[in-house]
Amino acid sequence: MPLMASIIRRKLAPLNKWPNKTHLLHQKSFSASTYETKTNQMNCIEKILIANRGEIACRIMKTSKRLGIRTVAVYSDADKDSLHVKSADEAVRIGPPPARSSYLNSSAILQAAIRTGAQAIHPGYGFLSESAEFAQLCEAEGLIFVGPPSSAIRDMGDKSASKRIMGAAGVPLVPGYHGIEQNIDFLKLEAEKIGYPILIKPTHGGGGKGMRIVHGPSEFVESVLGAQREAAASFGVNTVLLEKYITRPRHIEVQVFGDKHGNVLHLYERDCSVQRRHQKIIEEAPAPNVINEFRSHLGEAAVSAAKAVAYHNAGTVEFIVDTLSGQFYFMEMNTRLQVEHPVTEMIVGQDLVEWQIRVANGEPLPLTQSQVPLSGHAFEARIYAENVPRGFLPAAGVLHHYCPVPESPTVRVETGVKEGDNVSMHYDPMIAKLVVWGKNRSAALVKLKDSLLKFQVAGLPTNISFLQRLANHSAFESGEVETHFIEHFKDDLFVDSTDAIRKEAYIAARLGATLVAACVCKKEQIASMEHFAGEGNLLSLWYGHPPFRVHHFARHTMELEWESESDGTDPMLMRLAITYQSNGNYLVEIGDSGSPELEVKVVHLGRLDFRVEADGLSMAVSLALYSKERDKHIHIWHGKHHHHFRQTTWVEQSSDDGPDHKPSFEIASHPRGSVVAPMAGLVVKVLVKDGSMVEEGQPVLVLEAMKMEHVVKAPRPGYVHGLQVSAGQQILDSSVLFCVKDE
Ligand code: ADP
Ligand code: ADP
Ligand code: MG
Repeated sequence: MPLMASIIRRKLAPLNKWPNKTHLLHQKSFSASTYETKTNQMNCIEKILIANRGEIACRIMKTSKRLGIRTVAVYSDADKDSLHVKSADEAVRIGPPPARSSYLNSSAILQAAIRTGAQAIHPGYGFLSESAEFAQLCEAEGLIFVGPPSSAIRDMGDKSASKRIMGAAGVPLVPGYHGIEQNIDFLKLEAEKIGYPILIKPTHGGGGKGMRIVHGPSEFVESVLGAQREAAASFGVNTVLLEKYITRPRHIEVQVFGDKHGNVLHLYERDCSVQRRHQKIIEEAPAPNVINEFRSHLGEAAVSAAKAVAYHNAGTVEFIVDTLSGQFYFMEMNTRLQVEHPVTEMIVGQDLVEWQIRVANGEPLPLTQSQVPLSGHAFEARIYAENVPRGFLPAAGVLHHYCPVPESPTVRVETGVKEGDNVSMHYDPMIAKLVVWGKNRSAALVKLKDSLLKFQVAGLPTNISFLQRLANHSAFESGEVETHFIEHFKDDLFVDSTDAIRKEAYIAARLGATLVAACVCKKEQIASMEHFAGEGNLLSLWYGHPPFRVHHFARHTMELEWESESDGTDPMLMRLAITYQSNGNYLVEIGDSGSPELEVKVVHLGRLDFRVEADGLSMAVSLALYSKERDKHIHIWHGKHHHHFRQTTWVEQSSDDGPDHKPSFEIASHPRGSVVAPMAGLVVKVLVKDGSMVEEGQPVLVLEAMKMEHVVKAPRPGYVHGLQVSAGQQILDSSVLFCVKDE
């Protein structure tokens, strides 16, 4: 029996704590005919405005369209060519890129709805979805807010107030302080009463932002100040609450749904324990290794929580489960559709956006609690543009290559981007959600692993290979998930550039170089590449002087620079020579590797997909090529591997001036002691003056990018030079912020 299940079984709270209250639901399920009758009787939604962007805006439009509802998108200047704008029937500009001027600009959004004649607004998640004021403004304008009543949002939006309500309703709470007093000395005394370690949370927070773990009294004051500053900047309110920090928790949340007739039910739970920076990256439903008794306790507690605030529409009640005691505690309620709602949809076979729209229309819930099916198992992996070795910092830039795994009844890709889009630093850097279903957990996991391998993104750093390592980890395979999973298994999950990986890189370099040479040599392949690139002539972009000749006897040399995924490893340079042979194959040699020459047969399968045969092996290989900052980049996917190379030189030559030709290239370098921005973002605060003396590790400035604050520290003791940035300034990834010198 898995550890978790046995613990939970042993320590479970008595059943009678959550009396069974599933008598409320009598209505029949939604059928086309029910809907048509109702729509005739009621003032039904025919046009909906989606006050959001990215994948969730696209997701809501899909269902709206299926229901015959016309869609209106809103967009900031950064998004004018985005997928969500293109997918909508109409689109309205609402302001400049920063969210506070556009997607958080409630009056611009309301005007857009009035101007286009939309009767309803769906807020998605994030942005205005949990703003009670916005819900109220919609109500005042006679617009249907596709979400809960503003009163429930208000009750639950303040984590302290919601805990007081939940406590009164008998829902178990984590020991802590959730009162209104915010005096630091007072809070410090409360922290001592609770006992360290404690967790400080912004009362109006979300997305894991502003939370601080405090291990002892000496860190307390600095942590409260940091949490308050981040809370004020992100949520406009700087109040915090204190909670006992649970050292070995699982995050398990329950999807609830209510209608306007007082019916509330739950659609089982999701486990969202695998997190980084307190944010979810892989979610699954149902939660692994829990027994049914525990599952029904949790469901009943969630329904009680929703009823305590007269809830309707979609909501999520989050619980933290102490794996040591088996006890679960209410954490917060998210009064909206959650990012990870698709895993629930996959196991219950329902469309939750459809439920939301119909409930907003006044229809009763389509199922009773006992009718909610539970079938199979689902996973969601969130694919982010982020820099994993640099502590998962968000990345921004152009999505040069985007080729997600094909969708099927068991594989869903929820995406808000297309190839060539810019992942902007203004918003959440999530590129897509990969959702898979299987008849049980192991079948779903096989699908997850396979789909991650086939999900191709290039141009930006992503977390895909990290997700692969997670999905393949034996502890994850056996469902031993906890919120510290990543930290606990960091040695397995963060790769060093081992000899094995370097060896793979050599193989990939040979294949990649051969395929690039093959593309240049074969006219038909060039044509299809140009077609695929969609931006005119890819090869002229790639090579200033397209040297192709059909079946030309050419020898090419190129130098490729391989960069390991792990930070701080020196790039590895490889020199390759490829000769096109009269039999149609290519001969590839790699300098200094000691590997023998290899004869490669290339079959072009279309787009940038190939089949190659070499050394008695035949395998599928995919390629991505793009130029970035005047460098040429090659990505190769083969088998379980994805490798990225920068091409530093390319020579097409006759055989005599070849192998000895030494190309020159430069790697940009910064002076010693320079500190470069670890991510693109906004300078929130500069803590020292230019010229001041600093200790090693002393905080110098605070940067912020989507949902997180990052403190940039002095790398060594010395004097700060060249610190020109000031609060409010936007900076680019890798720009030099300052330099620390001896004098
Ligand atoms: P949780 O709030 O528990 O993290 P989700 O994982 O569903 O729930 O995340 C909510 C989503 O809301 C995020 O992915 C993000 O898009 C959005 N969001 C949360 N906090 C913020 C924030 N401070 N600023 C902007 N968007 C946010
Ligand atoms: P947010 O609104 O930012 O989602 P939550 O209160 O839901 O904030 O907490 C986010 C995450 O932080 C949880 O999923 C969990 O991993 C962790 N967490 C929250 N409360 C505690 C606690 N008391 N002890 C340990 N970890 C916690
Ligand atoms: Mg939460």
